[in-house]
Amino acid sequence: MSVNGLGQGNASPGVFPAEADAVVCGGGPGGSTFATLMARMGHRAIVFEREKFPRFHIGESLLPWNVPLFERIGVLSKLKAAAPQVKRGARFYHQGSSFTRPVLFANGIDSDHPSSFQVKRAEFDALLLNHARESGAAVFEEARVTEVLFSADGKRARGVKVLLKGESERRTVDAKVVVDATGRDAFLSRHLGGRRRDPLLDRSAAFAHYDTFRRAEGPTGGDIVIVTTPDGWWWLIPFSDGSVSVGIVMPSRRFKERQGTVEQLFEESVLATPEVRDLLAGSKRTMDVQAIADYSYSTPRISGDGFCLVGDAACFLDPVFSTGVLLAMQSAEIAASSVDRALRAKGRVDASDFRRFERTYRGAIRRFERFVHGFYEPHVLETFYTPAPNPWMERGVTTMLGGGVFHPTLGARFSIFAFHVSTALIRVQQALRGRGAFERATGILEPEDVK
Ligand SMILES: Cc1cc2nc3c(=O)[nH]c(=O)nc-3n(C[C@H](O)[C@H](O)[C@H](O)COP(=O)(O)OP(=O)(O)OC[C@H]3O[C@@H](n4cnc5c(N)ncnc54)[C@H](O)[C@@H]3O)c2cc1C
Repeated sequence: MSVNGLGQGNASPGVFPAEADAVVCGGGPGGSTFATLMARMGHRAIVFEREKFPRFHIGESLLPWNVPLFERIGVLSKLKAAAPQVKRGARFYHQGSSFTRPVLFANGIDSDHPSSFQVKRAEFDALLLNHARESGAAVFEEARVTEVLFSADGKRARGVKVLLKGESERRTVDAKVVVDATGRDAFLSRHLGGRRRDPLLDRSAAFAHYDTFRRAEGPTGGDIVIVTTPDGWWWLIPFSDGSVSVGIVMPSRRFKERQGTVEQLFEESVLATPEVRDLLAGSKRTMDVQAIADYSYSTPRISGDGFCLVGDAACFLDPVFSTGVLLAMQSAEIAASSVDRALRAKGRVDASDFRRFERTYRGAIRRFERFVHGFYEPHVLETFYTPAPNPWMERGVTTMLGGGVFHPTLGARFSIFAFHVSTALIRVQQALRGRGAFERATGILEPEDVK
């Protein structure tokens, strides 16, 4: 177990703290961001992280709107020093047709968010967690939160029980606020109940890293490549060392229907997808294939007296637009500002203090979710892949896909609205004349996939 960074108002090194202003469960991007900000604002923050970092994690393509956030939490220069792959956009390919859609973030509504990074999460998450330490948070790795403690009436979170590696007795830490940042483990929402799966996004993923791939020449060589197929879609995420993350997302039942191991399924799918197979020609897989099943969900209750949920602990959206890390870090930032204000004003945090957090976070999720649902609907995909997109709408969509969902400008809202209206019109048109020519030509989704 490592205990580091206890200082600047935190517990003394080597002494296990019995209390804190904020206890953060989980040291991924959401937890690290929250702890960093709390510590920087002068509060005693403790992070309990179950694993020993660095550890593998999926979720490697970041959005441009994450960059100013890195700057706000003071980690941008450290991140740049690690020389991550610069990502200027995305290239969407449609298998079986000649449709492609490059998305260049610089073409968004504002010019402030032109690029982002592709990162190996083992290194990236360790960097963020270390930054939380260096900012003054107490960080305990290999420390598993086993229980969130509530007041006698069951309403107010008042601390946690945690089990440190090598110990058999759980320790108790009292806190004014408990933040669930446990990612897809969603520790607290499982306890509170009511986690909802999204039936429209019942998909699973399999993925691995390869040592190299045929990347595009020039500045777009660092862009994420998305290949849509009748079965689902692929990602190829280039890293700065020349290697690449490759993953496939399919309806969960397709995984279940197929015989053999996940590894066989993955390898066979690579061979069956010429666009992916060709890009990987001559490459070697450098890790075991991993899989994640049934992954989109939301939680009706993401805050209450003395607690809140950030990042994947609150909600998980299909990763087609690489939204997860931004949602995790941005929700943590908003939560930290709500907690700071409440602690300064009255020394405790009530459910009502999270109103702004709830409103802003849920609004952002809704905006992303609409696009994610749209991605799986042929008429929206048709609008997306159109060879001659309306430039004004394209700029709005680009801004949204860059992550501009938290406080969109009026212009962005209008162009997105126009995009949704135009896709709705296409839906009506298709209902009148049967399914679209695009879909007939490409067979992009099978009838049972279209809800
Ligand atoms: C297939 C797939 C592809 C994805 N691709 C992308 C992408 O390209 N771009 C993107 O932005 N996002 C992507 N995501 C989403 C991204 O991985 C997550 O949204 C992001 O990691 C969320 O961060 P977080 O801090 O909320 O949770 P996590 O990063 O999962 O961190 C949670 C941490 O909590 C710890 N923990 C869990 N339980 C406990 C406990 N009881 N006690 C203590 N610690 C605990 C875990 O060990 C973990 O370190 C993808 C997700 C999937 C499934």
